Order: sequence, then structure tokens, then C-alpha cells
Amino acid sequence: MSAIPLPKSTHASSVLICEECGAEAQILGSLDGPDATETVEMWNREHAQCGADPVASAWQSLVQRGDAECLIDYEDDLAKLSRIPRPSWAPVERDSIRGAIRSSAYRSRPVAVPLTHHGTEECDNGRLMSRFEVAAKRLGQGENLVGVTLSVVVDSEWRNVGVNLTLDEVHRLIEALAAACDLAVTE
Ligand SMILES: [Zn+2]
Repeated sequence: MSAIPLPKSTHASSVLICEECGAEAQILGSLDGPDATETVEMWNREHAQCGADPVASAWQSLVQRGDAECLIDYEDDLAKLSRIPRPSWAPVERDSIRGAIRSSAYRSRPVAVPLTHHGTEECDNGRLMSRFEVAAKRLGQGENLVGVTLSVVVDSEWRNVGVNLTLDEVHRLIEALAAACDLAVTE
């Protein structure tokens, strides 16, 4: 028999029956195998609450959800930690998970703007230029931002400074940059 105990109301060693909800499942293959153990574990999880007092079950679900939400895993998917759904433009590998949900962010892929008046550094395929990188961000509590990072080579070392701008700040920056461009070409 499998190492873990069979659940309540198991009538036959190879058939699982929940007397509370009437569900049945057949264990396929060897009862000693890892597949059987997995099937029984899943069955136990699915039917643990069957027939229980609904008030107690609701409380137990809240306890489990709260415990899961209290663990921040830096390698995790922000959509598991935040109530804000993943935007279509934010790949999971770009998630920035920090010490608090409100400072964690979904991020788009960045757009790089190369800077010709600043240094370069040798890399595997050639030389990498100093640059601005721009990405759309949505924080873990829903605020929409634009992240701008300046990466420049100074004395053969990369200096990186990142800032978050509100959308209003971005519009003001666009306005100032456009006005500076206009000004620069006048006498
Ligand atoms: Zn059940």
C-alpha cells in the first residue's frame, strides 16, 4: 500500500469514494507507485472540506489564503502575490518583486535609446553603448508608471540610475524635451 494513509470513506483499495459528495476515482496502475501516491494526495486535498461545516470551511480557506499571501518569494510571479492582474504587455520574467507588494511591479520589455556622446564597454558580441532604457510599469497595488534608467559608462564602469515617473510627469518631460529640441535649432 502507499506510504500515505488513504482518505476517509475509502471502500476499496483501488477505488476512492467520497461519501460526502459522492465522487469516485479509480487508482490506475500499482497502488505502491508514485502515481498512486500523487492521486491519493490530490484526492485528499480536493475532498478535505467535503461535508464539513461551511462556516468552518470558509474560515479554513481564509487561513490558507492569508498564509500563502504572507510569503513573498523574490523568484515568484507577481500575479500570485498581487490582486492586480498581469497586464498583457508584462512578461513574467520581467516582474520586479521587492520587500512589499506596493513597491513590486509588472514591467514591459525595455526600449533602449543609445547615447552617442557617452562611453561604450566591450561585451561578448562587440561594444555596448551607454543608453536610456524606458519601460511601462504597473505597481502591485495598481499604480501606472514609466521607469526610466540611465546606464552610462564612466571611467570604464557602468553607472545606473533608475527613476519612476508618474504618467503626468512623463507628459511634462515629453513637453520639455520637445521644447528643448525646438529651441536647440533656433538662432
Ligand atoms: Zn468529496
